[in-house]
Amino acid sequence: MSKTTKTAKSIGKILIVEDNELNLKLFRDLLKSYGYMVLDTKDGSEAISLVKEHLPNLIIMDIQLRGLSGFDIIQQIKADKDIQHIPIVAVTAFAMKDDKDRILASGCEAYVPKPISIVPFLEVIRKHIKLEV
Ligand code: MN
Repeated sequence: MSKTTKTAKSIGKILIVEDNELNLKLFRDLLKSYGYMVLDTKDGSEAISLVKEHLPNLIIMDIQLRGLSGFDIIQQIKADKDIQHIPIVAVTAFAMKDDKDRILASGCEAYVPKPISIVPFLEVIRKHIKLEV
């Protein structure tokens, strides 16, 4: 195994579910620049099948998606024993405390308010990413 492959494997694969093009580009470029493998979708209805197909080491989940809620996707993931171990970091512009509680109660591992601050955002990812199942 080459050193490059080993590094890419060890740092992890992240699925981004985000329907805002600018946020998606920001997350994608940032995570790639730090060496993560990145998959993404703007379509929340595609998220579950992508998770099952690629088994990412962490999921970044926007809560406000067109047509459906990130809450519903989180609940579906956390109810599925094949994928419920995968950590989910919710990102949302919701700022109220009730929203934060509701987001954490949905089963995700962490919550990061938008607009994100880069250093804390990366720390949350490093803290929660699960490289071995
Ligand atoms: Mn959104």
